[in-house]
Amino acid sequence: MAKYAHGLARALTDGGAQVYEQSRVTRIVREGAGWSVRTAQGAVHAREVVVCCGGYIERLYPKLASAILPIATYVMVTEPLGDRMTTALETQAAIYDTRFAFDYYRPLADSRLLWGGRISIRDRGAADVARLLYQDMLKVYPQLAGTRVDYAWSGMMSYGRHKMPQLGRLPEGLWYGMGFGGHGVAPTTLSGEVLARAILGERADLDRFSQWGLPTTGGHAGLLAAQLTYWYYELRDWMRQ
Ligand SMILES: Cc1cc2nc3c(=O)[nH]c(=O)nc-3n(C[C@H](O)[C@H](O)[C@H](O)COP(=O)(O)OP(=O)(O)OC[C@H]3O[C@@H](n4cnc5c(N)ncnc54)[C@H](O)[C@@H]3O)c2cc1C
Repeated sequence: MAKYAHGLARALTDGGAQVYEQSRVTRIVREGAGWSVRTAQGAVHAREVVVCCGGYIERLYPKLASAILPIATYVMVTEPLGDRMTTALETQAAIYDTRFAFDYYRPLADSRLLWGGRISIRDRGAADVARLLYQDMLKVYPQLAGTRVDYAWSGMMSYGRHKMPQLGRLPEGLWYGMGFGGHGVAPTTLSGEVLARAILGERADLDRFSQWGLPTTGGHAGLLAAQLTYWYYELRDWMRQ
């Protein structure tokens, strides 16, 4: 993912764009025919703006923020396992299981095991994530007991109520691309291309997304409902095992 992000940044800068890191946008304000995108350090003026803040949008643009649920998910990476890897996995393939609340994992080139799973409304710290995913790993591979977890992290994804990606243009002219939770990185690239074409005047592909719209996800009540639904499916998975 980091290589992909760096590749995207390189493609942008090679094309003459400027990338501003560590610049949280605090407001997006109409300014004449364009927009002023404001940060604590300064503002960028643009004719067109695409809001693609995913599960980190917070209160930046309420009309968009109210149409997504920010949901966390977790990943950890073990220490290099060396020959111990084959006591658990004899494949280089990525694996996931068929439960609703599934685990997914794959061996890395340096014999570490990358393990992902769970979704939650809680964005946890690394130690918490490591503890939870380690327990999950041992349920599947008890022979890996005692394995050290070297890295663990949590991140936010955005989900629309209908679970479709949300691409479009608000009546005031602001473009948006979000709601990729459960869809992953690949469609974000495709959606970027769809949005870029729409900004250049070719809207046919973008307009296909208008049927889903931006229904509200219900704020805190929506988050609670999402967590309860996940727990319900987790319980159902457990009863079926
Ligand atoms: C732990 C974890 C593991 C995952 N594993 C996979 C995987 O293996 N494969 C896969 O395909 N997908 C995976 N996903 C899902 C994938 O990361 C998302 O679907 C994808 O990143 C969504 O892209 P996005 O551009 O909509 O949002 P993001 O990638 O979240 O990008 C949003 C960006 O907006 C920025 N932003 C937000 N608010 C502001 C603001 N006010 N000012 C400035 N910038 C702002 C954020 O800093 C962030 O960089 C994983 C997600 C997580 C959390």
